[in-house]
Order: sequence, then structure tokens, then C-alpha cells
Amino acid sequence: MKELILEMEEYASEHNVPIIEKDSIKFIMKYIKTNNIKNILEIGSAIGYSSILMASVDKDVMVTTIERDNTRYMECLKNVKKCNFEGKINVVFQDALEVNLTNVKYDMIFIDAAKGQYMKFFEKFKYFLNDNGVIITDNLKFHGHVGKSKNIESKNLRGLVEKIENYIEFLKDNKEFETNFYDVGDGISVSVKKDEKK
Ligand code: SAH
Ligand code: MG
Repeated sequence: MKELILEMEEYASEHNVPIIEKDSIKFIMKYIKTNNIKNILEIGSAIGYSSILMASVDKDVMVTTIERDNTRYMECLKNVKKCNFEGKINVVFQDALEVNLTNVKYDMIFIDAAKGQYMKFFEKFKYFLNDNGVIITDNLKFHGHVGKSKNIESKNLRGLVEKIENYIEFLKDNKEFETNFYDVGDGISVSVKKDEKK
């Protein structure tokens, strides 16, 4: 297991795969443990690094993870096999915005895919959360660009950073969820679904 994780970190750095930062995954693993989270949906598997680490927290943790890139999907399947997690991690090869989920509920949704689509992912998948479920989002600092979009010259980059800034505002204003922001790794938000009965 330890060896596989190191192997994946090496693969990611060689192939420019943006896997989660160590402090961030540690934070999420601790959150899973403390809050007794069992069913996780991840948007953006890449090579399975974060899925495998989340699934390793407890024998009862189950992960469904969605990836749209074929090379990464294949690599992810390979890694899931290597640690014998085929029964714990279900890898779906599809664009998350086209996935059809029915009759399933998750305790946690981890959004870690295309940054320009965060709000769409949030609005689509919030219906698949259990009561008091949580949506965690990665890369809210976007390597230090967030909050400084006005100074960015590249139009593409500025557009993307503006989308993340809008997403942060959207989370702050959201009445259905209570969001906390953490300055861990590349920036993480934890949005807990409010109790409707209150
Ligand atoms: N969670 C991974 C890293 C994911 S990197 C880890 O920390 O180990 C982001 C991944 O999201 C990329 O592999 C990219 O192909 C995928 N992705 C981006 N937009 C997507 C979408 N709409 N549907 C599915 N996958 C998407
Ligand atoms: Mg990330």
C-alpha cells in the first residue's frame, strides 16, 4: 500500500497529473474518520490517488469515483486492482455532468474536477447527499491565483479564476449549506447540508 502510494506520486509528477496535496488528503481522511463517513462520491478520479487513500480510512468506506479521461481511468483501474480495492472503489468512466445516478445517497461528495464547472457539479450532485451530508471542494486557492483575478493577463486563466471566485461567493451565500473554508494545501471548503426541519 505504502509503496503503491509512492509509485502513484511519482507517476503523477512524471505525467503532470494534478493529484491532491498531502496536507489536504490528510485533512479529508481525518474528516472521514471523525465523522464516520462511509459512502463517498468523488468527481475527478485521475489515477485513483485520493480515492484509494479515502477508501483506506476504514474497511466500511466505499467510494464511487468519476473520470472522463480514458488514460487516467485505465490507470485508476490498474491502481485500484493493485491494492485489492475492487470491492470498495467503483470507477465510472464518464463525464460527471452526464452521469445518471439513481437511488443512491452519499455521506460525502468530493469535488476535484474541472474548476470551471464546480458550481454545476455542486448543483447537480447535492441531491444525492444524505441528511447532514457534506460537499468538500479542492483547489479553491488555485495555486494562489484566487482573489487576484483582476491582475491576470491571460484571458483563459482569468476566466477560470473568476469562476472559482464566483463559486466561493456562491458557497458563502448558500442557504442550504453551511460552508467553512480551510487554508490547507491548495484550499479546501467543507459545506455541510443544513437540517431542513430546523
Ligand atoms: N482527485 C484526484 C485528482 C483529480 S484531477 C486526486 O487527488 O488523486 C482532476 C480530474 O478530473 C482529471 O483527471 C480530469 O480528467 C477529471 N475531470 C475534469 N472534469 C471532469 C468531468 N466533467 N467529469 C469527469 N472527470 C472530470
Ligand atoms: Mg485537486
